[in-house]
Amino acid sequence: MIDALKVLMTGYELDPFFKRGGLGDVMASLPKALVNIGIDVRVVVPYYQIIRSEIEEERIGQFFIHFGKGEEEVGIYKKYFPNTKIIAYFLSNKPNLSYINTRGRNKKIDQFAFFDLAVAHFIPWLSKNVSWKPQVIHCNDWQTSLIPLILKRKTSLSLPTLLTIHNLNYQGRGSLKVLDILHIKDEDTKEIKRGTPVTEINILGEGIIHASRVSTVSPSYAKEIVGSYNHSPIHYFLTRREKASLDSAQGKKDEVLGILNGIDYETWNPKIDNFIFHKYDQDNWEEGKKNNKEDLLKILFLDNKPTFCFIGRMAWQKGIDILIKALKRMKVSDFNLIFLGSGTPVIEKSVLRIAKNFPSNIKTIVAYDEEMAHKLYAGSDFIIIPSRYEPCGLIQMVAMKYGTLPIASKTGGLKDSISNGENGILFEKNSVPKLSKAIKEALTIYKSKEHLKTMIVNAMRKDFSWDKSAVLYKKLYEDILKSNSKDIPVKLNP
Ligand code: ADP
Repeated sequence: MIDALKVLMTGYELDPFFKRGGLGDVMASLPKALVNIGIDVRVVVPYYQIIRSEIEEERIGQFFIHFGKGEEEVGIYKKYFPNTKIIAYFLSNKPNLSYINTRGRNKKIDQFAFFDLAVAHFIPWLSKNVSWKPQVIHCNDWQTSLIPLILKRKTSLSLPTLLTIHNLNYQGRGSLKVLDILHIKDEDTKEIKRGTPVTEINILGEGIIHASRVSTVSPSYAKEIVGSYNHSPIHYFLTRREKASLDSAQGKKDEVLGILNGIDYETWNPKIDNFIFHKYDQDNWEEGKKNNKEDLLKILFLDNKPTFCFIGRMAWQKGIDILIKALKRMKVSDFNLIFLGSGTPVIEKSVLRIAKNFPSNIKTIVAYDEEMAHKLYAGSDFIIIPSRYEPCGLIQMVAMKYGTLPIASKTGGLKDSISNGENGILFEKNSVPKLSKAIKEALTIYKSKEHLKTMIVNAMRKDFSWDKSAVLYKKLYEDILKSNSKDIPVKLNP
């Protein structure tokens, strides 16, 4: 029997241990889908203070790394994904890493440099102590994007890496001093210094250059990012990779590949969802949605009207300001709208203000509230997703499973997962009039019950499971492994 391909996946969120957005979902659900098709996956994530009490007793070992001026201890904790045999490792950090604000510019780069260095040292620990030798390292987003560089420059492991970009706008930019802390020598950093202002490192950019392959989370986003970042520092890194693909025998292999995310129907399924008021499925959705809506509106003191929701991070990307402008031009008394989210304080304030102006129709919940999110998916008629850009987006897929129709910007993964007029409404992104028109169209559909029913059934039937995408990742890993075995391994200073 051929041994299963071994993949170590790493990122900074992992549902249900800690999650603030879609990456947490993906880190939890993709490994399960990969295991189902015969890949041996384990996951390694940072050990945050927030989960300390949950995993304290699961410490299985430690090792030391040379970080900054001294030797630092890294504690290893282990836990299984709920109801599976998939192992998640948690690596402790010094200074203790707090799991907040990890997306902003210049934030936390030292802590994630520590984590990335720890992962590079954890790989030999794994093979020595538990006889598990990963063949591909799968990094996700900037927080783990130093790993390909560290593996090349600081270890003698010639391990291939895949970097998946879940959001190109979060790049982990900060002082180049982080390289001194990592003890990466000057002669090894030529690319870094040429790419950005001499005082700055762009961690995602380093990942883009040094990873064996780069992917992103939808085919449309993969196309959109080529050429649309001309004025951003990340442009240099993307074009270097593109140029390499033209120059090298690797050809298309160096291009950024788009693989659409899926969702986990063990988590997102109204038939088994314990958070919602009434469980339902495709056979009794009419009654199920009606009852869920009734109870949702009751707890929020709203009248029975067409009900829209917004769920997500309150960030510029999500286009909440566009929605607020659209609301100001509309007859808000015709419908309900519920906002659930947290993030940038000015956006939070603007959403609280609009709810104050229309207290009988608009409610705002400023919180990260898993249970309320489930209740909104089940009890709303429509979900509004006015994103300026959306690499993939999971909320539209979840909403569709719950029979809630998405009204979404025509961009990235939203475009790849919603069929306009069939199972949702797509509108030109960044346009206040187009968004108002789309909301009005939804209200018309709502009135014509038959049309609404057809669209809801279409939405609920759509298959967003990981099955197809997991196969694409498997192929990609195999491809990376094949190409790597032909390369001359880079062996540098340990
Ligand atoms: P992003 O990754 O850009 O934040 P996605 O649509 O890919 O957006 O994923 C968002 C995930 O986070 C979904 O699972 C959604 O239900 C969840 N989520 C976002 N905001 C909240 C919130 N305030 N409360 C509960 N869940 C939330």
